[in-house]
Amino acid sequence: MYDFGIRHALTGYRVAYRPQQPNYCPGCGGSHWMIGRLTAECAYCATALPLMAGGSSGNGLIRRQGDAALAA
Ligand SMILES: [Zn+2]
Repeated sequence: MYDFGIRHALTGYRVAYRPQQPNYCPGCGGSHWMIGRLTAECAYCATALPLMAGGSSGNGLIRRQGDAALAA
């Protein structure tokens, strides 16, 4: 995934898809995205951006439905 950690302050701004914010394509300005597990691709011009904190949302996510009791 695309976790900048402490290096973020040293490297400046990097273009990435941020799931909780409106995202505009740096190539065409569009705002429709096809979101994968690691990247988001612009629906208009196919510009791909890495996901900020990727792997925590999208079609590949497997969620637990509550806390299941362990079989004894
Ligand atoms: Zn685009």
